[in-house]
Amino acid sequence: MSSYKFEGVVIKVRNFSEADKIITFFTREFGKRDLVAKGVKKIKSRKSPFLDLGSINKIFAAETKGLDIISEVENIYLPKKISGDLGRTYCLSFVLEVTNKLFQEEEDHRYIYKLLKETIRLIDKRVAESIRLIFVLKILDHNGYLGDLKECSVCGGDLRKNELFSFSKIDGDISHRKCHNELCLDLSDDELKLLKSWVKLPIGQAVKIKAPKKIMKKIEDLAIAYWEINVGYDIKSEKGFTDVIMGRNKSKSVPK
Ligand SMILES: [Zn+2]
Repeated sequence: MSSYKFEGVVIKVRNFSEADKIITFFTREFGKRDLVAKGVKKIKSRKSPFLDLGSINKIFAAETKGLDIISEVENIYLPKKISGDLGRTYCLSFVLEVTNKLFQEEEDHRYIYKLLKETIRLIDKRVAESIRLIFVLKILDHNGYLGDLKECSVCGGDLRKNELFSFSKIDGDISHRKCHNELCLDLSDDELKLLKSWVKLPIGQAVKIKAPKKIMKKIEDLAIAYWEINVGYDIKSEKGFTDVIMGRNKSKSVPK
């Protein structure tokens, strides 16, 4: 049995048998990969806490004919403030679910891997609802779904300052308001500016941008609309996020 090592983030955990789990990692080396963690549910398993969602690990694995087996885990980063904090928990679930749905196995995703690691650290460090949506916009942009955000999708002219814009809920494109206004979301100059900053700036800087709540909310809605139009999957964690975080349940801690 030959062995190998890699660095990866735990993005999904499933029960496999009485004592074993299947862990889905997002890795720097080969994108998404499933491995078996044997005996992980036994109490006192020393691997267990490092295989929590969002933890970043160096994994030593053994090849088998089926799924490879985790032989050793060396933890690099374990989010500390997420467990027990409802807002952070949903934010993390959302980001991990998006990563799991959008990417396939055996693909090289160095940019996404780096972005994912940074995003997890940010969620752990500061409270900001926008983090998860900036993450979504960045990966949609990386996959070519957002266009250049500089030209009108109808007339091809520049999207200049002091104009009104619209986002098509059918094509997911941005155009001048005067060029296209059916089934569209109106965008002001300031809203488009925030969208561009979220997409272009490194996520650590993007999350610090201060803007009026109304503008933030608009671009957050836009991020979800972009996702739905281009990718089409529902994000399960989004429903929980909206229900719990947006005020229907104000409690801050998750019962253990
Ligand atoms: Zn135009």
